[in-house]
Amino acid sequence: MTAPYSGRCACGAVTLAISAEPMTTRQCWCRQCQKIAAGGPTHNAIFAAEAVAIEGTLASGGWQAASGNTLTFHFCPACGTQIYGQSSARPHLKTVRFGALDAGHGLEPEVVIWTDDAPAWAQIDPARESWPQQPPAQPPAQPSAAPSTPPSGT
Ligand SMILES: [Zn+2]
Ligand SMILES: [Zn+2]
Repeated sequence: MTAPYSGRCACGAVTLAISAEPMTTRQCWCRQCQKIAAGGPTHNAIFAAEAVAIEGTLASGGWQAASGNTLTFHFCPACGTQIYGQSSARPHLKTVRFGALDAGHGLEPEVVIWTDDAPAWAQIDPARESWPQQPPAQPPAQPSAAPSTPPSGT
């Protein structure tokens, strides 16, 4: 499926409408993600913040990442569904949880990160790009149809 994407929390109090394709998609096995994902990894689609419209009341929590940045995670206070996360270093991006998107969104994680923190029983797809911790390059600041391809033309 392609944009626009729609979504909602489990109880329906929070809804999403996303007007662009994600810059990248990730599966994250860091210990903090395992806390909010019930022991598994989180699955995330990173969008330009302005492409993500959210209706309904969100609650938030946060933690300090190893990088020193503050990560804030936003969730529905009525049902607890994780909606998106945001880094203090990248306020122009919203990291939307796959679970908040409606079924049939078709997104898959392109990159697996923090495999060092994954439990021994974790099944990590060898066909996907993976990183033992945080990958060195951050997602591009601007949306791009093909982030791994250099811009064409001048
Ligand atoms: Zn809810
Ligand atoms: Zn994580």
